Amino acid sequence: MSQAADSAAFFGSDTVCLVKRPKAAKPQRLELEATTPMNSRVYLDWNATAPLRPEARAALAAHWDVAGNPSSIHAEGRAARALVEAARDALARALGADARNVIFTSGGTEANGLGLTPGMSRNGSSPAKWLIVSAIEHASVLAGGQFMRGDIAVAPVDGDGIVDRDALRALLHGKPAALVSVMLANNETGAIQPIAEIADIVHEAGGLLHVDAIQAFGKIPVAVGELKADLLSVSAHKIGGPKGVGALVLTEGIEGVAATIRGGGQERGRRAGTENVAGIAAFGAAVDAAIAAMPAESAAMANLRNRLESGLKRHPGAVFFSETVPRLPNTTLFSAPGLKAETAVIAFDLEGIALSSGSACSSGKVQPSHVLAAMGVAPDLIQGALRLSLGWQSQDADIDRCLEAWRKLSGVLRKGNETGLERF
Ligand code: PLP
Repeated sequence: MSQAADSAAFFGSDTVCLVKRPKAAKPQRLELEATTPMNSRVYLDWNATAPLRPEARAALAAHWDVAGNPSSIHAEGRAARALVEAARDALARALGADARNVIFTSGGTEANGLGLTPGMSRNGSSPAKWLIVSAIEHASVLAGGQFMRGDIAVAPVDGDGIVDRDALRALLHGKPAALVSVMLANNETGAIQPIAEIADIVHEAGGLLHVDAIQAFGKIPVAVGELKADLLSVSAHKIGGPKGVGALVLTEGIEGVAATIRGGGQERGRRAGTENVAGIAAFGAAVDAAIAAMPAESAAMANLRNRLESGLKRHPGAVFFSETVPRLPNTTLFSAPGLKAETAVIAFDLEGIALSSGSACSSGKVQPSHVLAAMGVAPDLIQGALRLSLGWQSQDADIDRCLEAWRKLSGVLRKGNETGLERF
């Protein structure tokens, strides 16, 4: 194995962390197969990224060779422009937005950063002078976009990871207009926020609401009007589109979005750079496919997830996070006393199963999950948190394989706990 592959790697806070194999990990204790052929692997990390949908792959293949630049006025340029605008229409239709207010970006991270602009207002209202983010936001929101560090406040969440509305009211009280950013569904727990209620609180205080809908889009209905969101971010690769494409969606009257990438006048001057034509067209295809399939896919994922959780619960002491609040149908985040997530991820991987620790890793170090920390979860449980997330290709057989691996792992864990052996 190359040094790079062996060493810890940072793939963003929403991916499986490849960690340096701890010297004492000894995964052989599970009598694991050395490797599992890729075609028999079970992928349970759909919140990190989803495979391409066939419709998106077909769109990519069909449009890679589009020669024109969408900004050119000749026929080739107009053909490229038509593809971009068709995708913009698809996204606007899916979200109940106006196509003119869809800004294509290089992904969800850029869409979030672009959405967090100081000075933003609606129809000339007081410009947003400061930013409030919930404590469980994705790193791309916690980074604060273009706001200065000193102008950012954090709104706490309760034990289920739901934003504390009284604390939010208190933060907003008597201050100049704020931009507030709250995600619709959390990438680790799947917990769904009461966004429309939060929007009312924010609007009453004269503020604006940005919603990171990146995990929710395609799994539950997302409509900007019903959510009462002022701005909303989505990302193609979470719904079966290609990686590296996303969008920030504004609602009518929002002014002052300041381009973070400046240059040409693309995207109505709000995001410079020649558009990723094939990627955007594939995003549009994925949107249409995901929205059409959502009712059936979500119901199927919920059934599988529930079966998975019932099986995992056979391990005494297993704790499931955000279980009693509305959650995405595909996500489960759990822990157990004595479980060590980074080692468990490797053990599952050797069993042919891809899942994720509930922790973020950066610069080669596994960081405890800031989401669970904000929920007040004990450090011992945080270090054992495992996230399993399903998708439209998930099947009963995947759940069987995962539960079988968990049966082995949890047996070793129980034995280790009894004898005081090193923990998984
Ligand atoms: N926000 C949330 C909730 C996410 O889960 C992710 C994905 O990791 C992002 C933002 C970033 O999106 P992208 O990977 O497209 O930059």
